[in-house]
Amino acid sequence: MFATFTDKIIAGSSPAVLDALLKKTSRGVFDWKKRASFQNTVNYAYKNSAFYRKQFNNLNINPSKIKSPRDLGDFYTKPEDIINHAEDFLCCRPHTVFESSGTTGQNKRIYMTQDELNAIGKFVAAGLFLGGVTKKDNIINALDFCIWIPGIVTQKGLEQSKLFGITAGKIDPMEVYKRIERYKITVVIGEPTWLIKLTEIAETHGSLPLKLLIGGAEAMPENARGWMKDVWQGADVRMVYGTVESAGIIAFEPHDECGAYHIDENNFYVETVNTDSEGYGEVVFTTLNRRCMPLIRYKNHDISRIINEPCTCKLPFRRLAKLRGRTDEIVVTSGGNLYPLMFEEILKDVDGITRDWQIIFSSRGVKEVMELHLERAKDSIQEKIETQTFENIKTKYPDLWKNLSFKTFDTDFVYHTPNTLRNGRKLIRLIDKRNLS
Ligand SMILES: [Zn+2]
Repeated sequence: MFATFTDKIIAGSSPAVLDALLKKTSRGVFDWKKRASFQNTVNYAYKNSAFYRKQFNNLNINPSKIKSPRDLGDFYTKPEDIINHAEDFLCCRPHTVFESSGTTGQNKRIYMTQDELNAIGKFVAAGLFLGGVTKKDNIINALDFCIWIPGIVTQKGLEQSKLFGITAGKIDPMEVYKRIERYKITVVIGEPTWLIKLTEIAETHGSLPLKLLIGGAEAMPENARGWMKDVWQGADVRMVYGTVESAGIIAFEPHDECGAYHIDENNFYVETVNTDSEGYGEVVFTTLNRRCMPLIRYKNHDISRIINEPCTCKLPFRRLAKLRGRTDEIVVTSGGNLYPLMFEEILKDVDGITRDWQIIFSSRGVKEVMELHLERAKDSIQEKIETQTFENIKTKYPDLWKNLSFKTFDTDFVYHTPNTLRNGRKLIRLIDKRNLS
C-alpha cells in the first residue's frame, strides 16, 4: 500500500492526480505504519547487529516490549558511535559506503545495499513530483559526486523519475548556465552556495526560464532566496534537509506556503528531544526501512521544532521548522542562547554586506564581546550597516537588545572584503572563543 503511494506519485505526477491522491490520504494511516516500522526496526536491529545487541543487553532493553521511541528511555545513537563502530551496526553485507565530509580524519560511515539506494531514489523522485516537477520538466543535477552522498542520491531519484536529466556533478556554474537553453532545463539541483554563483551569472548575463532551483547539503543564507527568485524572474527556490547519516532526504519543502520542511514519515521517525519553551530541541531520527545499517534514535545535532498542525498543502506528513542551527553552534551568552538562524534574521536585509558572515564570541578582560564579522561591499556605508543591524536586533530580538543596551557585553563590527570569510565548503556561523571557566 505504501509502496503504491510512492509509485502512484511517480506514475501520476500531474498536479490534479496528486491533489486527488493527497485528499484521500490520512495521517493516521502513516502514523500506524510508522509505529509498526519502528517496532520492526528495533527487533531486527537487535537480532542482526552486534552494536544494538550489546547496547540493548547492557541497558536491559527488551526489544519485543518497545512500542515507540520513548520506550527506549535514554538510549540514543550518536555521531561518535558511527565514527568509532560503524561496522558493528551492520546487519548484512553492504554494497557501498558513504562518508561524511570533513578533514578530521574521523569520518562518519554509512553503509547500504543497492536495493536501499534504489528505494531512496524512489522517494527522491516522489518528492520532486510533490514539489511541482512534472513529466515535462528537464533537470540538471549539479550536486557533488564524491564519497559523500547528495549527487548519487539525486541521480537515483532522476533515474526513477524517468525525466530528461543531465548528470553534471559540481562543475563550473557557467558550464551549466550555457546548457540551460540548449537542453531546455527547467529544474537545477545544487548546493546553495553553488546555486548562488549560478544566480550571479544569470544576474550578469541574463535570466533564463527556469522553474525551480533546489538546494541541499548545506544551509541556504536567508537573504539569498528573495534575490534568487528576482533574478530568475519568479522561479521557485526550495531546500531539502538531509544528512549523510540519513542517507537521503529527511524532510523537504514542497511548496512555499508550507513555511517549513515536510518530514518523510515513510522513512523516518523524527523526534525532538530536550525541547525549550518554544518547542525547539535536538532532532533525533530513526530510519524505518534501512536494513543494512539501521539507525535508531540517532542524535543529529540539529535544532528544530516539529509542527503538528496540518499544512494547507494537504500533504499528510508533519513538518519540521527551519533549522535554528546545530547543538554545537548554540552559544550561551549573557545575552541569552544565541543561534545561527537568529543572525540570519538580523542580517538578511542589511544593505551593503554579502551573504557570508560569521559571529565570534570572545573575551576582552572580564567582558564578553560579540564580534560581527561581515563582508562589506566597496561603496557601502559602515554607519548605515551598524544602524540597520541594531534596528533589526531591536525589533526582532528584544531580549538580546535589552542586554545590548545594558552593555552586558560589547559589540564589535569587523569588516572583511567580499569572498574572504569562506575558505572551506561550509562556513561556521557562530564561534565561541571566550575563555570560560
Ligand atoms: Zn505543506
